[in-house]
Amino acid sequence: MKYWRQEFGTINGQTVWQHWLENSQGYQLAVIDYGATITNLVMPDKAGQFKNVVIGYDNLADYLKQEAYFGATVGRVAGRIGKGAFTLDGHDYQLLPLNNGENTNHGGPNSFESQVWQASVEEQADAISVTFKLTSPDGANGFPGNLSVATTYTLNEKNEWLVDYQATSDQTTLFNPTCHVYLNLTGDFDQLVDGHQLQIDSDRFGEIQPDGLPTGQLLPVDQTVFDLRQPRAIADAFASQETQNKLVNGYDHPFLLNKNADRNDAVLTEPTSGRSLTINTEGNAIVIYTANGFGSEPNLTDKAIQPHEAVAIEAQMMPDAIHHADFGNVILKANEQYHRQTCYKLN
Ligand code: BGC
Repeated sequence: MKYWRQEFGTINGQTVWQHWLENSQGYQLAVIDYGATITNLVMPDKAGQFKNVVIGYDNLADYLKQEAYFGATVGRVAGRIGKGAFTLDGHDYQLLPLNNGENTNHGGPNSFESQVWQASVEEQADAISVTFKLTSPDGANGFPGNLSVATTYTLNEKNEWLVDYQATSDQTTLFNPTCHVYLNLTGDFDQLVDGHQLQIDSDRFGEIQPDGLPTGQLLPVDQTVFDLRQPRAIADAFASQETQNKLVNGYDHPFLLNKNADRNDAVLTEPTSGRSLTINTEGNAIVIYTANGFGSEPNLTDKAIQPHEAVAIEAQMMPDAIHHADFGNVILKANEQYHRQTCYKLN
């Protein structure tokens, strides 16, 4: 295993480092202090050609211009919270400012994704980890509790990339982080992800309303393009005439995981390159976002970035879980230790 770091830029007088992790087979993971963000994931195709397969820039200035959460640690709470309002232990909380119409998305503005985290590195014979730590103060965007968060990225000799979240808060609060990496396993960000095959072990997905907030209904995937229990080309979601797909121009939906012991939670495969990623998580959901629209994100290649050039596979608890009893628990009790891991096996 190898580790090195290089300067990536500065913000408010602070140096942001890019940390490189490499295993003996040449797989690489690069992460930066800004947003505890993954900038590169380098893996071979079936002919042994290594390419970066995640959307990322090679300089901090471009990260400061994008609002798509490229590769970032998202939190405190991934996804939307209806009206940015919730009740905890009999207290009503109103998140402010709202950043997604009437709702909050991804913890509100300037959350984890735009902070400079404190990095430390742990090197072992068969794995290297970078842990990023952050303290989110009581009242940040309206959330209660001083929250200490750690995101750990590990690359090991089994060609696994692991994401671990740990946290504690001095008051009961909400916590549901995710890793917002955008994948294109061709490694060519001028190509659409139409040909990628996606498999998810999920019988039910979360219906959304036009603003992207879950309605609270869990719909059966049967007879729809949400049936990913067998691998399905992502193009099916782009071609679909179903209202749920037309609303968002693809997928932007949570899938409630079945948690079958003998099945992986999700598998993404790109047949031409032969690259694939197998995902298993301790969360109860995977949100699929097929990069359905971009704002003024800087180019990745010499062409402007286009919709459907990547897919985000966000392992988390169901979005807006605080408002729906069957969506799982996102409450972190005061002084309780939080830990959740997601494993991505790179093939
Ligand atoms: C959400 C999308 C959103 C994107 C960028 C995804 O996780 O599901 O609705 O547009 O993040 O914020």
